[in-house]
Amino acid sequence: MIYQRSSQLFAEAEKVIPGGVNSPVRAFKGVGGTPIFAKSAKGAYLYDEDDNRLIDYINSWGPMILGHAFQPVVDAIIEKAKKGTSFGMPTELETKIAELAVSMVPNIDKIRFVNSGTEACMSAIRLARGFTKRDKIIKFAGCYHGHSDSFLIQAGSGASTFGTPNSPGVTQGTAKDTLLAGFNDLENVKALFSANKNEIAAIIIEPVAGNMGCVPPSAGFLQSLRQLCDENGTLLIFDEVMTGFRLAKGGVQELYNVKADIVCFGKVIGGGLPVGAFAARNEIMNYLSPLGPVYQAGTLSGNPLAMAAGFAMLQTLNNDSDIFKRLEEKTAYLHKGIEKVLTANNIVFTINRVGSMISVHFDANPVYDFNTAKNGDNETFKKFFHGLLLEGVYIAPSAYETWFITDALTYEDLDFTIAAIDKVSKSL
Ligand code: PMP
Repeated sequence: MIYQRSSQLFAEAEKVIPGGVNSPVRAFKGVGGTPIFAKSAKGAYLYDEDDNRLIDYINSWGPMILGHAFQPVVDAIIEKAKKGTSFGMPTELETKIAELAVSMVPNIDKIRFVNSGTEACMSAIRLARGFTKRDKIIKFAGCYHGHSDSFLIQAGSGASTFGTPNSPGVTQGTAKDTLLAGFNDLENVKALFSANKNEIAAIIIEPVAGNMGCVPPSAGFLQSLRQLCDENGTLLIFDEVMTGFRLAKGGVQELYNVKADIVCFGKVIGGGLPVGAFAARNEIMNYLSPLGPVYQAGTLSGNPLAMAAGFAMLQTLNNDSDIFKRLEEKTAYLHKGIEKVLTANNIVFTINRVGSMISVHFDANPVYDFNTAKNGDNETFKKFFHGLLLEGVYIAPSAYETWFITDALTYEDLDFTIAAIDKVSKSL
């Protein structure tokens, strides 16, 4: 395959956009080379500016769970656009999608729509801090909750030391209120509670992590966090930006039967348009402005095009009783196929999977947190990524990303992918 035009477009983009991209991971920094420029997409396929067809395993980093340009979503956007693209006033559709989301997800009474996953998580911790009248939060190493200041934090050496910013521009003042724990490390979380009695407003977690590859919670981990939160008057926030409306109709709360206090959404909920949301029971949501004292707002929040796309998407997922089972089966088929060819080619690997989220790590040991995720052989990953690209298979350009499986993928597409992985493995 040739990527000549994409390279030229990237060179032009670099002159006027920092790093040539509007979000860093698109820049191929982790794998080398220059990014592919998208021209169009339909179903399971992306078509780039050099007219290559790629089987897409990124799917806009999750939203395209039913495939690209899914007809009911496209039709809903077109019909809405003809009637105006933004009002900054309430619309009936906002209530309809809110009712639908509340009916699909356990333990939530009210939901507020925002414009991104970042906004959802940022607003959720402000709400938790306002509600509990406490300042500190616990987050887990390797979990990503968007780029707002409180989340761009690395811990010091001891578990109970204050965090230090890992991006210039995040102040020490902000960093000191974010405590960092190891994913799946309950003792670490307990130690943080002991050292910060009555100070922790919330634990925020990707309940199935997707930003260090796919890392499932170990047995009982989420339940133990729930218990610790109950004992300490702390809220449990599930960041379901990736997992919401993907792993089950009701997300991880349903899949693992654990109750969260606040749930954050993004990606699938917007049908590919810029939408995020956060939701909780009445007692907590009524703390938000204009009912309560915690301020949160947005000129374009609940935008009609975004709501139309999201509503069409959620309706389809809600009405298709087989969808999550079908996605899981397709992903399990891919999982088995990859396992078989990597083994046959003597490649050292670990595959993690929950439902339709899957990641391949080039390390023999179990991957259960950020440190074990970092053990993967990045040189092998780079070759794997570029090899697959040449075969027409597009996975995320980073070893720390999850592959997102779409319902538009056929078993022929999956076989094509497995054959491509077989071929590429021989040269790793
Ligand atoms: N939370 C999680 C779990 C995410 O994966 C992401 C984005 N990858 C975000 C929050 C931030 O969402 P956005 O990029 O829409 O701001």
